Amino acid sequence: MEKGYEDTEVCKVCGGACCKSNGCSLSPEDMLRELAGWKDGQAERKTDDEESIGVQIEKWLQDSHCAIDSFTIEKGRCYYIRMRHKCFTFIGVDAMGECIALTDQGCSLPFERRPKGGRYLEGRQNRHCLQHYTREQMIADWKPYQQILQKIWSTWYDRLEQEGIFDRCEEDYMRYQMEKRQQEKAGALGNDGKWKA
Ligand code: SF4
Ligand code: SF4
Repeated sequence: MEKGYEDTEVCKVCGGACCKSNGCSLSPEDMLRELAGWKDGQAERKTDDEESIGVQIEKWLQDSHCAIDSFTIEKGRCYYIRMRHKCFTFIGVDAMGECIALTDQGCSLPFERRPKGGRYLEGRQNRHCLQHYTREQMIADWKPYQQILQKIWSTWYDRLEQEGIFDRCEEDYMRYQMEKRQQEKAGALGNDGKWKA
């Protein structure tokens, strides 16, 4: 596996501002590694044709901590996979959100299992951090998977929307953020109700 940039002192002090606003992007290599380690998928893997791979990816996505997302490109959209946001589903309609793998102690994934977008983000003191896994690389990497990902997206998007799942995710996320703020506030206040020094 290509190495990337391990957590630096800058990132430890920062506490993961990047992870609080977005889940990092996988490369297809990351997806295939996760798919290979996904036990339920072994029984499903009969052939390597595109339809079979599509079914495996669809099932794995539902069971994983990842989501399909997309961004605009010249010829339409580029579909890719990123880490899911807390409270949300495998269809990534949530433009921003805290990564599901982020804990108070930082990223819960060992470095070698972090998506390439996380491994290749170089922390900078001024928070103008540098993403070395570029959009151009993502477009090239994910090109062979566009039909598969687009099909999964369109199969599930309308269904989840009609069932009100996205609205429920949004409400759960607002509740999560509110509870977190209350806990942070309580942590910053002493037993006497005054701000801690
Ligand atoms: S990459 Fe940048 S935003 Fe992310 S933890 Fe490091 S310093 Fe913070
Ligand atoms: S997987 Fe880890 S590095 Fe990537 S966004 Fe989530 S918490 Fe951050």
